[in-house]
Amino acid sequence: MSMYERMQQELQLLESTGNLRSLPQIEHHGTEVVVKGERMLNLSSNDYLGLACREDLRTEFVATLTGENFQPTSSSSRLLTGNYSAYDRLEKQMSDLFGTESALIFNSGYHANMGILPAVCNAQTLILADKLVHASIIDGIRLTSAKCIRFRHNHYEQLARLLEEHHTAYEEIIIVTESIFSMDGDKADLKELVRLKKLYPNVLLYVDEAHAFGVCGEKGLGLAEEENCIDDIDFLVGTFGKALASAGAYIVCKKVLREYLVNKMRTLIFTTALPPVCLSWSSFLLERLPSFKAERNHLKLISQMLKESLIANGYTCPSDSHILPMIIGESSKAIQVAKSIQRKGFYALPVRPPTVPEGTSRIRFSLSAALTIAEIERLISIIPSQTEIDSI
Ligand SMILES: *Cc1c(COP(=O)(O)O)cnc(C)c1O
Repeated sequence: MSMYERMQQELQLLESTGNLRSLPQIEHHGTEVVVKGERMLNLSSNDYLGLACREDLRTEFVATLTGENFQPTSSSSRLLTGNYSAYDRLEKQMSDLFGTESALIFNSGYHANMGILPAVCNAQTLILADKLVHASIIDGIRLTSAKCIRFRHNHYEQLARLLEEHHTAYEEIIIVTESIFSMDGDKADLKELVRLKKLYPNVLLYVDEAHAFGVCGEKGLGLAEEENCIDDIDFLVGTFGKALASAGAYIVCKKVLREYLVNKMRTLIFTTALPPVCLSWSSFLLERLPSFKAERNHLKLISQMLKESLIANGYTCPSDSHILPMIIGESSKAIQVAKSIQRKGFYALPVRPPTVPEGTSRIRFSLSAALTIAEIERLISIIPSQTEIDSI
């Protein structure tokens, strides 16, 4: 069989199990999208604070640009000539906000997670990673020479046993988790993780705040700010691509770790630096991030409304955030329900294996502070109950 024939066969298999993916054609109009001629409210973006919809902010930012200072490319790696002053400014802003020794900016959260662990781990490292961490973290772990054990999702008794069992056999152990999980929308217990880490001198903590940065905490710095444990997390990582409505990612950490990454991290060294205009846009929004309290409170309110409705409709809802899964089970059923919700004007998407475990296909609602209470009430009024779905 040729490679192309094998591909065709595998794609057909994906299609027959309802797991075939394709790139949608999509037009954006503020909080709405047009897909296949249908105008719908966007319930699938990661624009959690609604900043990507804010024309006022874009206008204010664009007014600072001229043909001379608008830099759409950095033309080089940061280690060669790509390290524009916009990087220094953004990193200073980040370390000041977080109160950490330093910060380092990456091209994306994917680059961050793909590069940090491979740079810092060796064969004497043990990684203990939550079963549900993001694909980018898994890919990073695969590139290390460390041993890795995945613990059951948020199951800290198992984690405690693993730490007790292994802490003497390795030079260091790195616990890896997300703060808000991408698919279930539930939270890690950062306080408990910090407590466990502190039981041993050679245990470190890695937390990916992709879905919490901008959303949690007084200043919007994430769950670590809310839980008052920024200083206890060795690798505090997040993306600018979600709530911050920009692109890029960060780690806030000790100086020595930053310097080590600059020397060893392949996804930082061997890639063209971010466009300076993009760094300036991140700076512009970051400056205003602490002030978006009303947005954070509104997001919390509408998330609570939707969660209560999902529970009232018979779904188990693990979420404790603005990411709310409506867990259906079979992929084909999830697709059918998503289509029906879309016909009613809401662009919610089905999430299927391998993104989520087999048998837990779902509709994933990803809310934004730009959505009104009336819009959420309209959504709630059309959500099918668990019993209606069982009878499909
Ligand atoms: C989205 C996401 C990333 C990747 O961030 P990008 O900046 O989009 O590459 C990493 N980790 C988690 C948990 C994410 O949800």
